[in-house]
Amino acid sequence: MHELTCPSCNKPSQYVFSDYLLMCPFCSATFRFDTDSGQKELFGDHYIVPNLLDAGAVKELSLEWLRRLHHRPGAVDKEFFVVDVQGFSLPVWVISLEAHTAWKGLVKRQNPLHVNLSSAGEHLLESGQFRRGYRWAISARANICETWGLTRLHEPPEPINTEWDGFPLDSTLSRGRLLDDDQKSAYEARNFFEFKYANGLPILGVQVDEHEALRRAKNHIELYHYKISTLNADFLIDNRTEVEVAGVQLIHIPVWKVGYLYRPKNILRHFYKGREKRLLIDGHGKGVLTGQLAMVHTDKVLVNGYVTSGAAFFFLLVGILWHPAFIVVALFALIVAGTSFYQSAQALKAKELAQLENISNSFGTDPSKSAQAAS
Ligand SMILES: [Zn+2]
Repeated sequence: MHELTCPSCNKPSQYVFSDYLLMCPFCSATFRFDTDSGQKELFGDHYIVPNLLDAGAVKELSLEWLRRLHHRPGAVDKEFFVVDVQGFSLPVWVISLEAHTAWKGLVKRQNPLHVNLSSAGEHLLESGQFRRGYRWAISARANICETWGLTRLHEPPEPINTEWDGFPLDSTLSRGRLLDDDQKSAYEARNFFEFKYANGLPILGVQVDEHEALRRAKNHIELYHYKISTLNADFLIDNRTEVEVAGVQLIHIPVWKVGYLYRPKNILRHFYKGREKRLLIDGHGKGVLTGQLAMVHTDKVLVNGYVTSGAAFFFLLVGILWHPAFIVVALFALIVAGTSFYQSAQALKAKELAQLENISNSFGTDPSKSAQAAS
């Protein structure tokens, strides 16, 4: 910590010089300080999305989210316990950009009647292009793992595994809202940076500069669009993405992290050791950005399968050693176990099918996103 006077209001305060940007606690001015030359330079493109939640409201939102997911909503208040609630205002670089991708690849022929069985005839050469606009967010914190869930916030509609920490601001911060009000998007609700809009949350320092953020955003978009292109062809041959940057802003966004425990009241508690699960909640939109599920219905069915398999084995032993009637009981337990395993397998399959259905949504421009990024 070093003392420095603010270039805007001239009041002295303590600053961490390793931070890329410094924020005056008196007038909220944001500035760069060059430790070599002693030069201070005001930074204007700094905004903050107001925090609208407090710890009590966050706890209630978490329980409401669990009630919606639980197959017996009434049991949530007795079985789920919020044990940790912490909020902070997270700095992200927001890069408004347009990305245009052209791809070329081989697609398997649909109609087998016309297939010339020589290998060249099985595929058609196809090409296409798509254009998308984003306000892509990159954390301005050096350690993206310092808070659970911030490493993979992007949940694309396509069946794609994200391998990047950047995320589209608008679709991410409008996700998982439980309240159906027509509130403004986080981007629209931003104000010029002032400490007061954090409403009590600690403001985290800016550690990453905009050049790195820009480079990382381009990398993420290129990788994301490459993966979208691979969905279009059986063999992708060529893929080219051009990124046009319209603007870069620094925005502090309010995030709450929640820890909760699940302690089932029924027989399951003997088989289930509760570990703390986490949620991330958007302090402005009030949506659940990402969350870990405690044991849900499918898991319970699975546990049921294990328990009844054990019972089947036990009764089979009793049946062999003592009285054959127990073999019938064993058979019954085995049927229940089989049904449980089958059910949980079906649930998994349904989830995969739902993901596959999203493939068809991956083509072409999303006009709403382009319009947002253009502003
Ligand atoms: Zn100041």
